Amino acid sequence: MRILVTGGAGFIGSHLIDRLMEAGHEVLCLDNFYTGHKRNILRWLDHPYFELIRHDITEPIRLEVDQIYHLACPASPVHYQYNPVKTIKTNVIGTLNMLGLAKRVRARFLLASTSEIYGDPEVHPQAEEYRGNVNTIGIRSCYDEGKRVAETLAFDYHRQNDVDIRVARIFNTYGPRMLENDGRVVSNFVVQALQGNPLTIYGDGSQTRSFCYVADLVEGLIRLMAGDHVGPVNLGNPDEYTILELAKTIQTMVNPDAAVKFEPLPQDDPRRRRPDITRAKHWLGWQPTVSLKPGLEKTIQDFRQRLEHLPTPASA
Ligand code: NAD
Ligand code: UDP
Ligand code: UDP
Repeated sequence: MRILVTGGAGFIGSHLIDRLMEAGHEVLCLDNFYTGHKRNILRWLDHPYFELIRHDITEPIRLEVDQIYHLACPASPVHYQYNPVKTIKTNVIGTLNMLGLAKRVRARFLLASTSEIYGDPEVHPQAEEYRGNVNTIGIRSCYDEGKRVAETLAFDYHRQNDVDIRVARIFNTYGPRMLENDGRVVSNFVVQALQGNPLTIYGDGSQTRSFCYVADLVEGLIRLMAGDHVGPVNLGNPDEYTILELAKTIQTMVNPDAAVKFEPLPQDDPRRRRPDITRAKHWLGWQPTVSLKPGLEKTIQDFRQRLEHLPTPASA
């Protein structure tokens, strides 16, 4: 099969490409390298079944493919808030273009949506029926409202033009290849602990998240694409931790002497988040298999290797 992965040079996209290439598919990786990096897909660059296309999805593009995994969009608050108008364009115009492409070539289209569409949830854990509690005018809105529109577009192309869609609502995912300066909590804490800097806890650290290891997530995406259910389907790990617990865990694993420091909680930061994965279990036979510690071990090892190879100020 010819499969397009938008955002394929990014964190989740590159792990997905590894799986698709290993399964023998022909893969087109489309990316503008905003937060993605060539090193993530380096091993495939010379492979005859792999093609890299540097392109911004806010511009139309004509390609011939059988399936589209649509992941292009910065996912970390630091990056998606850097240029919020661009983030909206990517979610709205970019998703429109990819749906237009899917319609023209009759490709199955999977949207990487997010738990952020539930906003700061009043219902816990979050099931797919919950419609969310989202601020339309806050600093996170470019991303969460953008993804809500992306879901709406997908369902409208489905109803109006018969586009074969799948919608995944991805919860916090972590693992090797996250950027050192990604800004998300797992990468921040691991890098800080490895470098002997204090771990920065925003607020009092009592807010919760549920962390899914990237290999589990990719398995869920592949099953959703292969199955008959349109979705939306939550994909995430239901094990819930406070941010303080996460900091302590990483501290113990990397550097028990690392300090923690408390910083202000960003605006509209969700208080609690945990997926209800009943649908994913029933529809896809899917549930996470990697618990936090083994997943963190792999992540820490990857960061350790990369940080060792970064130029230090003295040698730069
Ligand atoms: P990432 O930032 O590593 O990857 C996003 C990729 O999209 C990057 O390679 C980036 O260069 C590319 N991109 C961004 N804007 C683009 C544009 N206009 N045109 C072409 N390429 C563009 O993030 P990720 O963690 O791999 O997330 C991938 C997808 O999964 C995103 O859509 C994100 O919203 C979704 N998601 C991720 C998480 C998570 O915890 N990682 C949670 C929920 C949803
Ligand atoms: N589009 C694209 N590649 C294609 C087909 C469409 O980028 O192969 C874009 C197209 O330029 C348009 C969007 O997708 O901006 C929506 O396409 P659709 O055909 O639904 O709408 P229309 O072109 O009729 O406005
Ligand atoms: N967070 C933190 N310290 C950091 C980065 C993030 O305490 O250095 C907190 C953040 O305020 C949020 C949680 O960790 O409550 C998860 O943040 P992240 O940006 O990883 O994901 P999201 O908020 O999008 O779920």
